[in-house]
Amino acid sequence: MIVKQIWTGNSYRNFNYLIACKETGQALAIDPLDHEKCLAAAKEAGWDITQILNTHEHRDHTGGNAALVAKTGAKILAHKNAKDKIADMARGLGAGDVIKVGKTVELEALDTPGHTMSHVCLRSHTDQPALFSGDTLFNAGAGNCHNGGHPEELYKTFSEQLARLPDDTRIYPGHDYIENNLRFTLNREPDNKRAQEMLDELKGQDPSRAYVSTLKVEREINTFFRLTSPSVIAKLRESFADLPEKPDPRTVFLKLRELRNKW
Ligand SMILES: [Zn+2]
Repeated sequence: MIVKQIWTGNSYRNFNYLIACKETGQALAIDPLDHEKCLAAAKEAGWDITQILNTHEHRDHTGGNAALVAKTGAKILAHKNAKDKIADMARGLGAGDVIKVGKTVELEALDTPGHTMSHVCLRSHTDQPALFSGDTLFNAGAGNCHNGGHPEELYKTFSEQLARLPDDTRIYPGHDYIENNLRFTLNREPDNKRAQEMLDELKGQDPSRAYVSTLKVEREINTFFRLTSPSVIAKLRESFADLPEKPDPRTVFLKLRELRNKW
């Protein structure tokens, strides 16, 4: 499996992806908003884009579909419940469905509601797994729930699915938010040394050569995976006086999501 991360350079800071089969050169494009950059990258590598995967229905993820289909004839795949929200879907996906790219690549759909209620992440079946996490999991952050989402569902997705993935899973999110998110981590957990080091290192990084984290790293720097950290809880109790000394992780997650909205 070859992964190419494409920085769009737009104000929403979207990342698009191409995933290609080494043997056949067939490729799948994830959320190809910048269809021109995706096409140019595929051409340069000698790949044919045969499938488009939308992680969810938001326009900054689906806005390149029509132009890319017109040029390549690629089939559009997305969550099965997104059928009335994404035009010309050829395949609706449910949890556990497998997507093949060429002969050598297998990707598994995870049903990951929260940012929207019809969001999929893709997990690769490779020696070192990769997760294409759309707007569910960001580097050092979690998706918002403003436009058709639900924080309780996002918590369930984090705790029941993402937190259980192997440590060495490489994380490929839908946006480059790492710098701002690390600042939020440090706002919530000022003694998080790893987050401070990473911020010092990645501040002003060139997103066209972006740092790629792993789930192990996210467990260290992403507040939404640090729900039992004593310092996260202590800081949270300054904002929410009614929070018990040992709050349940769900409550911590929901409070953090609430604070992140206002931050
Ligand atoms: Zn979105």
